Amino acid sequence: MFNEISEILDAGFDGKEAAIRGWIHRTRSSGKIVFAVLRDHTGVVQVTVKAGNLPDAEFEDAVKALVETSVEVRGTVKKDDRAPGGYEVLASGFNVKSFAQPYPITKDQSEEWLREQRHLWVRSRKMTAIMKVRSTMTGAIHDFFRSKGYHEFTPPIFTPNACEGGATLFEVKYYDREIYLTQSWQLYAEAMVFALGKVYDNAPTFRSEKSKTSRHLTEFWMAEMEAAWLTYHDVIAVAKEEIKFIIERILEYNQAELELLEVDSVKLAGMLEKDWPTITYTKALQILKEKSGMDIEWGKDLRTVEEEEIMKHFDTPVAVVQYPKAIMAFYKPVEENPDDDPPGPVAKCFDMLAPDGGLEIVGGSERDTDIERLIASLEAEDEDVKNYDWYLDLRRYGSVVHSGYGLGVERTLQWILGLENIKDAIAFPRTMTRVSP
Ligand code: ATP
Ligand code: MG
Repeated sequence: MFNEISEILDAGFDGKEAAIRGWIHRTRSSGKIVFAVLRDHTGVVQVTVKAGNLPDAEFEDAVKALVETSVEVRGTVKKDDRAPGGYEVLASGFNVKSFAQPYPITKDQSEEWLREQRHLWVRSRKMTAIMKVRSTMTGAIHDFFRSKGYHEFTPPIFTPNACEGGATLFEVKYYDREIYLTQSWQLYAEAMVFALGKVYDNAPTFRSEKSKTSRHLTEFWMAEMEAAWLTYHDVIAVAKEEIKFIIERILEYNQAELELLEVDSVKLAGMLEKDWPTITYTKALQILKEKSGMDIEWGKDLRTVEEEEIMKHFDTPVAVVQYPKAIMAFYKPVEENPDDDPPGPVAKCFDMLAPDGGLEIVGGSERDTDIERLIASLEAEDEDVKNYDWYLDLRRYGSVVHSGYGLGVERTLQWILGLENIKDAIAFPRTMTRVSP
C-alpha cells in the first residue's frame, strides 16, 4: 500500500510510517546525506536519505539518482519547517524503479524550447496545475448543463459544410473527395434541438487560422450549447451563469493550483458577486471614442487591440451584442429593434469579452429562421446552397426560434489563469507552426 504525497503532508501523519512513490523533482547530496524532493500527482515532499538508515546499495542509488528517476520510498514522516510543505520523510528504504538520464529541461529555458519538450514539460508543476484546473473546468461544464436538464450531443468531426466561413477550413482528403474538419458543431446542434430541446457538448474544433497570435490555436476545444425556444438574450444569461459556475468550482477545488499560478482568487471571487453588463457594439465604439480616443468606423469588426481597450473600462466579463449584420456569419438574423440607433442593420448576436486583456471567450447568436434570407446570405458568401439543403430542411419542418453559443475552453482558461499564451492552456498545442510533440 502506498500513500499519496498530499495525504502525508498532514499533521495526522507526523511520526508515522509512510510509503510513497513518484519521481525525483529536485535532488542534492552532501557526502552521507541526500535531500531528494519527490513528486507525485498530488504534490511534492522532501525525502531525506541518510547513510546507515537504509541498505548501503539503496543509499548509493539515492546518491546516483538524477531528476525524474522513478522511485518507491519508505520511511518516517517528520515535521520540518524548512522542508517544502512543512514535512519530510526520513527514508528507511529507497527503491529505484528506473534511473533517469540527464534531464533536458533545466532552469531558464525559452518558452519555445519548453514546447519542443512538451511531453516532458507536462510534468512541471506549472503545467500540472494548469491541467488540473482545466479538468475542473470541463467537469464543471458537464455538471452545469446536466443539472439544467441539457442533453449531451457530440457532433461529427468530418463535415461537408463550412459554418464560420471558408477562410479557416481545414480540408481533409476523404477517399476521392475533399471534406473539412469541423469549425463548429452548430449546424448539427440546430438539427438536434428539434429532438432533444436543449443540448451541449465539449468537443474538438479546428480552424486554420492564418496568423500567429497568442489567442488562437488550430485545434481547440469548444464547449457549446444550443436550445429551442430561447432568444439570444436568454442564452447570454446562460453563458454568464455558466462562467460563474466554472469560476466557483475552480475556487472550490483548486486553491493550491491558483496559488502556485499566482492567480488573484479574491479578485475572481469578487466577480461572482457582480452583475456582468451587456452593451451594444455601437455603445462599445462610443466607449472607445469617448474614453480611449479611438475612432473606429462603424461596421468594422472589433480587433484585438480594440477589445483590449474596451475591457480596460470593465472589471467583469461583458457581453457585446448587436454587431453589424454585414460582418456576421450567414445564420445570424437581423435585429429589427436594436437597443440604440445604429447607422446600419445589426444582428441578434453577442461576443463575451473578458477583463484584463479583452479576450473573446464566448461567441453566440440567435439563428435565422427565415429560409429565403438564409439562402440569400449563403449565396452572398459564394456557398453552394445544395450542400446546405439538409440544414434548410430544419426551417421547412416546424422551425422555432433557437439560439446557442460556443465557449472557448482554452480561451476561458487563459483568461481565468492569466496565461500569457493560449498554448499553455492545452497539453499539446497545435498552431500554424507547431504540430509536435
Ligand atoms: P476570434 O475573433 O477571437 O477569432 P471567433 O469570432 O472566430 O473568435 P467564434 O466563432 O465566435 O470565435 O467561436 C467561439 C469561441 O471559440 C470564441 O469566443 C473563442 O473563445 C473560441 N475560439 C475561436 N477561435 C479560436 C481559436 N482559433 N483558438 C482557440 N479558441 C478559439
Ligand atoms: Mg476567429
